[in-house]
Amino acid sequence: MLDKIYIDRLKSGNCDEFDQVLPSSFLDVDEDELSFCGDIKVHGKAYLSGDHLTLQLNASATAQMPCRICNQVTRVTIELKNSCMPVALEEIKGAVFNPNELVREIILAEVPAQTECKGNCPLREELKPFLKEEEEIYFPFKDLEEK
Ligand SMILES: [Zn+2]
Repeated sequence: MLDKIYIDRLKSGNCDEFDQVLPSSFLDVDEDELSFCGDIKVHGKAYLSGDHLTLQLNASATAQMPCRICNQVTRVTIELKNSCMPVALEEIKGAVFNPNELVREIILAEVPAQTECKGNCPLREELKPFLKEEEEIYFPFKDLEEK
């Protein structure tokens, strides 16, 4: 879990830097379609700007998803670079912000909807006739083209 951020400590213009390695269980997703493995690295800083707390975040995680073509489990690297998240101070109760849920959501939002093994599934051509048949409807039949 990430450390809590104490707003009072940031009030004199200080920056709260964090650099943590978390287990993949931090993301709390373990399904057939999506799970995570290895470490999750999170580093960044928190500071106040006006009436907001801003988190500036770098993170990396490794997702495991089935290839959309051949269904083989494929690893996908999720990376966040200097993502900035403002949080309104009025939403922070007791002047202590627990960043875990927000960081979790931000990382999960970066997971692609689907993936393909090796970035380009070798079975793509082979399986093409069985994929999304409705796509073929938009193309004229070959013998019509020859007229
Ligand atoms: Zn594949």
